[in-house]
Amino acid sequence: MERFDERDTIFSRMELVPGSESYNSYYARRPELKAVDDHFRSSPPGKYASSLVNMARVDSAFRFLKDIRSLAYREDDPGRRCQEQPAVREIEKALHETALDYGAVLYGQTILGLECFYSIRGRGPAYGKPVENPLQNALVFAVEMNREKISRAPRPEEAVEVTRAYVRVAVIGMILSYLLKELGYRARCHMDGESELVLPAAAQAAGLGKIGRLGLILSREYGPMIRLGVVTTDFPINTAPPGGRPLTPEPEEYCFSCDLCARCCPGRAIPFEEADRPGGPDKSGGSWKTDPAACFGIWQKFGTDCGICVSVCPFWKQTPRG
Ligand code: SF4
Ligand code: SF4
Repeated sequence: MERFDERDTIFSRMELVPGSESYNSYYARRPELKAVDDHFRSSPPGKYASSLVNMARVDSAFRFLKDIRSLAYREDDPGRRCQEQPAVREIEKALHETALDYGAVLYGQTILGLECFYSIRGRGPAYGKPVENPLQNALVFAVEMNREKISRAPRPEEAVEVTRAYVRVAVIGMILSYLLKELGYRARCHMDGESELVLPAAAQAAGLGKIGRLGLILSREYGPMIRLGVVTTDFPINTAPPGGRPLTPEPEEYCFSCDLCARCCPGRAIPFEEADRPGGPDKSGGSWKTDPAACFGIWQKFGTDCGICVSVCPFWKQTPRG
């Protein structure tokens, strides 16, 4: 399977500074995206941008995340090998327990295929670097978002809750990676703006859920009302039991008979069409093809991250917890 170039994500493209070398070389390679991206850059502030306190809450969370990105991975971090190395099972138990203690509600571990990783990085100082020989053993986890706050989408209270979840998964990822390093292993925390991999693909591989029509992971217990985090490491994880439990029903099947997110999407960014279902006619893998630029256009119009599709998704009601 072809790996995704992170430079093609809308978030990477929006970080390009007009006139810079990265900007010029990107649009020389992808000229068809220049007009739409320049239009986004010159758009006026969205409808909710005047909600100053809520926007400050969102921006403060993103600023904090930006400040801690440099802690996500250090090539030269030696770690600290214990004099007597604990057993793998004991460490696995501690990692799982730590994730839950810090607020994770879903947790899995797996060895990721290379297809889960970007081919080339597209954010921050790593812009343009190929992802080569990544750490492929992965701890994948999720926090639950507050349903009532997300139901206020697209008002800014939703964005405040989403950014709170970004911070929570980043902190869990940091703690797990620091714990692994304390035990002498290499570890990288993948977080907002500092990730070598496509988080939903990693979560699907670890059994936390399946990617639904709206393009996000649908977990059995929480539907899409979660945020994901990943730590990759050279710790020799035991992949025997996949992290998650089987979903009933499978989201792909449920999404074939439900199109609520597509009907509610103000940007028409979520597909209705059979042709866009996973894997085409035989449903053999792949993901629904959402339209990130159409989605981002709505974010700009609202001045928030919209979130209507997440707030309306009824999948979690089909699979009672427990
Ligand atoms: S966030 Fe809003 S615009 Fe984007 S896909 Fe969901 S409903 Fe559509
Ligand atoms: S709203 Fe319906 S179609 Fe959309 S992701 Fe949720 S279950 Fe699938």
